[in-house]
Amino acid sequence: MTLGCARNEVDSEELAGRLEAAGWELTDEAPDVVVVNTCGFVESAKKDSIDTLLAASDTGAKVVAVGCLAERYGEELAGQLPEADAVLGFDSYAEMSTHLRSVLDGVAIPSHTPGDRRKLLPISPVERAAAVEPGTIDIGLPGHAGGPQVVRRRLDDSPVAPLKLASGCDRRCAFCAIPSFRGAFVSRRPSDVLAEARWLAEHGVRELVLVSENSTSYGKDLGDLQLLETLLPELAAIAPRVRLSYLQPAEMRPTLVDTLTRTPGVVPYFDMSFQHASATVLRRMRRFGDTARFLDLLAQIRAAAPTAGVRSNVIVGFPGETEADVAELEHFLTEARLDAIGVFGYSDEDGTEAEGLPDKVDPDEVHRRVARLTALAEQLTAQRADERVGEVVEVLIESTDGEGRAAHQAPDVDGTTLVSGDVRVGDIVRAVVVGTEGVDLLADLVDIILPAALVPVVA
Ligand code: SF4
Repeated sequence: MTLGCARNEVDSEELAGRLEAAGWELTDEAPDVVVVNTCGFVESAKKDSIDTLLAASDTGAKVVAVGCLAERYGEELAGQLPEADAVLGFDSYAEMSTHLRSVLDGVAIPSHTPGDRRKLLPISPVERAAAVEPGTIDIGLPGHAGGPQVVRRRLDDSPVAPLKLASGCDRRCAFCAIPSFRGAFVSRRPSDVLAEARWLAEHGVRELVLVSENSTSYGKDLGDLQLLETLLPELAAIAPRVRLSYLQPAEMRPTLVDTLTRTPGVVPYFDMSFQHASATVLRRMRRFGDTARFLDLLAQIRAAAPTAGVRSNVIVGFPGETEADVAELEHFLTEARLDAIGVFGYSDEDGTEAEGLPDKVDPDEVHRRVARLTALAEQLTAQRADERVGEVVEVLIESTDGEGRAAHQAPDVDGTTLVSGDVRVGDIVRAVVVGTEGVDLLADLVDIILPAALVPVVA
């Protein structure tokens, strides 16, 4: 069972690949043991993970907790949740088969002892590549196991799949705990990413969604800060559609904008979390930028690709945020014309710098600001969708009723496009937008660019 983000989906499929290779049968029917790949990002996600663990234990099967919540809290989680038969961290993934056998044999496995995973690798990025070579520092990098020999087992037959570029993050955003439990930034070798992309394409995947904690940093530890600009066209030669996610606005560069807007097969899609627009709040978040610089970046993108898709997340209620700061954020969002906006209320996260900041905003006021910004976001993104009426969009069909996603719509978060016409799951089609329902589009089929049946010959 997988919770959380697309990165966790990759980790689950890698674990499934390891277990199947070790002789385990993956099933939903009366399993002997349930592995719950948890999320530990924020309060609501932690609660969902614990609820899922409890529900799994109600089935009578053995329950093993892995993933970010297990990595972040380890023994503490085990102490509070006796329903979990084992709580294992990332360093246990390579030996997961052995651990599950022990659990089934009733052998107690010591719970994971959490620590700051940033300390496991050299501070200097370029020294890390050598440090994580197989047989050197023995640390778990979920989703990195695949080399020439891909370690993965698909857990669904969707025509879209996430593909991990890298793990960890070197930034220090004051509200974020991810670097402490996902560790320092480590890129996967391009050859490993390409091998896994071929494997996915051979298994019916039409759209690769490239994921990491901070994709804009890809290659910095491999001695090439612009490695993405080389890798993206290579991936586009393997799968019909390539989407890049998790871009850091502070690390955007003209060459990357160029590659994302001018490479056939790479969708002009910008998943950039601005988080706020007030310079004062952003500095306190230890982030770069302000309204003017963000609007300038968006103008550069739209100059290169006027219909490019842009999604972003924002946090309201950060310590010290004033009414004027909220107004600045509203002004930015109104000018930015984003396709999708995620609005989150600030909450303290264990071990983050912001947890210790003064001037906390009253939780009720945080809720009011979330409601206010969410209402504005819904209005603005619906307007942005309306602007696309008459536009010809390319849609990957994902369900038999003709529903799919256009180039500006990432899976699960950005809305869908319902195409009327004779289409099949896996088809990539051109369709003209004739209407909207909120952020969702209604479109009429123009023609089929790549029929589902035509599985591309993978070079
Ligand atoms: S860039 Fe993202 S993952 Fe990294 S510290 Fe900031 S919010 Fe967290």
